[in-house]
Amino acid sequence: MITKIIKEDLIQKAKEEIESVNDIVIVSHVSPDGDAVGSSLGFYNFLTDILDKNVTVIVPTEVPDYFRWMPGASDMLVYSDDKELCDEKIKNAELIFALDFNNLKRIGDMAFVVADAPAKKILVDHHLDPGNFANVIISYPDISSTSEMIFRLICRMGYFTDMTQECAECIYTGMMTDTGCFTYNSNQTEIYLIISELIKKGIDKDEIHRRVYDNYSENRFRMMGYLLSEKMKVYPEYGTAMMYLTKEELKRFDYKPGDIEGFVNMPMSIKGVVFSALFREDESKIRVSFRSQGDVAVNEFAAEYFDGGGHKNAAGGQLFIPMDEAIRMFEEKLPTLADSLKKEIEKQSKY
Ligand code: MN
Repeated sequence: MITKIIKEDLIQKAKEEIESVNDIVIVSHVSPDGDAVGSSLGFYNFLTDILDKNVTVIVPTEVPDYFRWMPGASDMLVYSDDKELCDEKIKNAELIFALDFNNLKRIGDMAFVVADAPAKKILVDHHLDPGNFANVIISYPDISSTSEMIFRLICRMGYFTDMTQECAECIYTGMMTDTGCFTYNSNQTEIYLIISELIKKGIDKDEIHRRVYDNYSENRFRMMGYLLSEKMKVYPEYGTAMMYLTKEELKRFDYKPGDIEGFVNMPMSIKGVVFSALFREDESKIRVSFRSQGDVAVNEFAAEYFDGGGHKNAAGGQLFIPMDEAIRMFEEKLPTLADSLKKEIEKQSKY
């Protein structure tokens, strides 16, 4: 039995809005990940195939190749590729769904046109602290992916039987990628009931795993080796590893969006490491990603010193200083986490 987590009045509001319109736009966040693309395309497939709506999915920046196999991906628009067309779609939409982000800042250059669009907006998301830019806010931070929320939404609107394999494949991809293949945020038993239903819809979960994780470029693979052997500093007393890549290094490996996806998680495989940081330099700033285990709250650390935020165990931020200064600053602030790091190291040393 799958429980009714999403409040009934929110389901009904979403359903009414969908039923009263024809042209729908779905938007998701910059550097779209598996959950951004999976939830958007899962919902896209449902709205077009089952409800016969005219739907456009728009993401702010390029989608990694290894998500391009998802049904509907070829119809997706990338804002940075064709702003004019995207602006027009957003302005003329009758209803806008905002999926997998909590704040308009997360959609980059699209933020203004989405904010100004006359259409009603419905947010479906699982990040903490949803902004109030939407008319209907469906926010459940305890659900491990927006894709799972889309599954629940479709079912609760009464369309489970109609759900297609295409829709199910997208939803599964988002659930899989946002939980590191069900290795974190994945202890809720209903996740597995849902997967079981998705398999009954015809998905091949092993094949989906291969399409996403055995489909990287040679460049990405070599960059990973370089990063791990040459660019990782470990601070054993803090159970911390930090890695960094400069613009020049990214260029050397012909960096493409998505190429560093997941790298930040890798040092967690080291015994005694409970906090991992990755700094990546781009044109204008240094992008910071943090991952942690247990009670090490990296979202607070990110908010306090790195102009960012996120989940307790997965957060990010940004710095507008050179890389060497950024590393120095990280090392300077790391001791502020000492207590929680030590507790977590202690806890893990028992097994
Ligand atoms: Mn997500």
